[in-house]
Amino acid sequence: MDKMAQHPIEIYEAVQDEAAFEDRYSRQLRFGPIGSAGQDRLRSARVLVVGTGALGASLAQHMTRAGVGVVRLADRDYVEPSNLQRQMLFDEEDARSATPKAVAAARKLKRMNGGVRIEAHVVDVSKRTLGYLLAGVDLVLDGTDNAATRLALSDACFSLGIPLVYGGVTASEGMSAALIPGRTACLRCLIGDSAADDGTDTCDTVGVISPAVEFVASLQAAEALKWLSGNREAMRGTWVTADIWTFRVRELKLPGGRSRCACCGTGASTADNRLRQDDKPAIEAAVMCGRDSVQVTLGEAIALDVVRPLLEERGCTLTVNPYLTKAELPDGKRLVLFSDGRVLVQGTSDAGEAIRLCTDMLQPHREGESIVG
Ligand SMILES: [Zn+2]
Repeated sequence: MDKMAQHPIEIYEAVQDEAAFEDRYSRQLRFGPIGSAGQDRLRSARVLVVGTGALGASLAQHMTRAGVGVVRLADRDYVEPSNLQRQMLFDEEDARSATPKAVAAARKLKRMNGGVRIEAHVVDVSKRTLGYLLAGVDLVLDGTDNAATRLALSDACFSLGIPLVYGGVTASEGMSAALIPGRTACLRCLIGDSAADDGTDTCDTVGVISPAVEFVASLQAAEALKWLSGNREAMRGTWVTADIWTFRVRELKLPGGRSRCACCGTGASTADNRLRQDDKPAIEAAVMCGRDSVQVTLGEAIALDVVRPLLEERGCTLTVNPYLTKAELPDGKRLVLFSDGRVLVQGTSDAGEAIRLCTDMLQPHREGESIVG
């Protein structure tokens, strides 16, 4: 557990067995569209799975077994007996001990693939927490069970240019679509603000069966593997609705972004060419007179244990104590990061440069940038 985090986190570092790599992924390597290049891309990819209940547990398992480099899990709930009928990663002991779902899931996933970094965040996913949950993430898989969280997720993903693979299930019916900033409309434009928990059927009122869950999770996982392995032109581009009991499947072409929408309209971030977040309004900078340093306030908490690997990948030398993380950049400048969202940038008295440094060093890596040495 990270003492500085504002919520419990359990992290399992990846331990690669290079000699066993080819054999472990041999069936995926032989699958033409993935092959060796695609497998390498998967290995350097990071996904966030939001919700680790029914859909989320299955999605996390697909990503872990496929060899995605980092699988970050976020869930606020603990395991209960009524989950066991469909939530494939949990067992009776997890329910007896009321283990947080993210933690119980991570423990199982780690035993499936030690070569994947697994992060379990026991956290309420909201506007407030999405900033650090999305740091460094290439794609988000939706395993949530409510429209309010989904809409917050869609807003955040579209503002950062991160693809969101939506999925939802009730009774024997499910829906799924890969929503890609710069290509498709956002979730808010597709389902409308009014859809936020308007009293429609939920799993609590009409129940849910596990084959419907697994069907939707498979649709989501397939799109995620396409995007992450570099098969972006193979993305389905449709909204699928399917009933696994009556077996009716409908597919509608997804519309592009709506011009008047702040999330998916013209000028918004795109996933194909992710924009820098230099002009994010929440960021403030104060020049510290005579000290050759600038204090940057990011406007959201920093999960120090999550950003440390990003900083190391970018050539920083780190000093870590329970209160802060100090990162010395290759050019001698220093970033001193506090979990409350403050960054002291030392070695400059230019506010613009300080903000640029923070966003460059802390934001998700861009297309084509290698994160694995
Ligand atoms: Zn929109």
